[in-house]
Amino acid sequence: MERKMVCISCPLGCRLTVRWENEQDITVKGNKCAKGESYAREEILAPKRVVTATVTVAGPAEKAGGPRRLPVKTSAPLLKEHIAALLDELYGLEVKAPVACGDVLLPDIAGTGVDVVATRTVKERS
Ligand code: SF4
Repeated sequence: MERKMVCISCPLGCRLTVRWENEQDITVKGNKCAKGESYAREEILAPKRVVTATVTVAGPAEKAGGPRRLPVKTSAPLLKEHIAALLDELYGLEVKAPVACGDVLLPDIAGTGVDVVATRTVKERS
């Protein structure tokens, strides 16, 4: 099989051509450094993405007219196979203020060791 992709590991954006017969026999062309080969292999074998989203903020911050949505992200790239279930979970997640930037809201997603963390601080208001 063959797949063309752009390496996103640095701003150069090398255009890669990846050919493979099986998981042990993958060749990568077009990369200017070893990171491109690693990126291509991961994209074929176990693609991952950092997930960003927002979740609902409940409680005093909402009553006081504060932000109703809190931006969150995964602490590391997550296997794509877990992303749909994570987005479903985040859709229903409601967090209570106060929340500090960096707080872990969902630990160890699907046993991957990747967490969902807050990317903004929401203070409690009276
Ligand atoms: S292959 Fe290397 S030089 Fe090319 S985009 Fe990827 S990281 Fe950058």
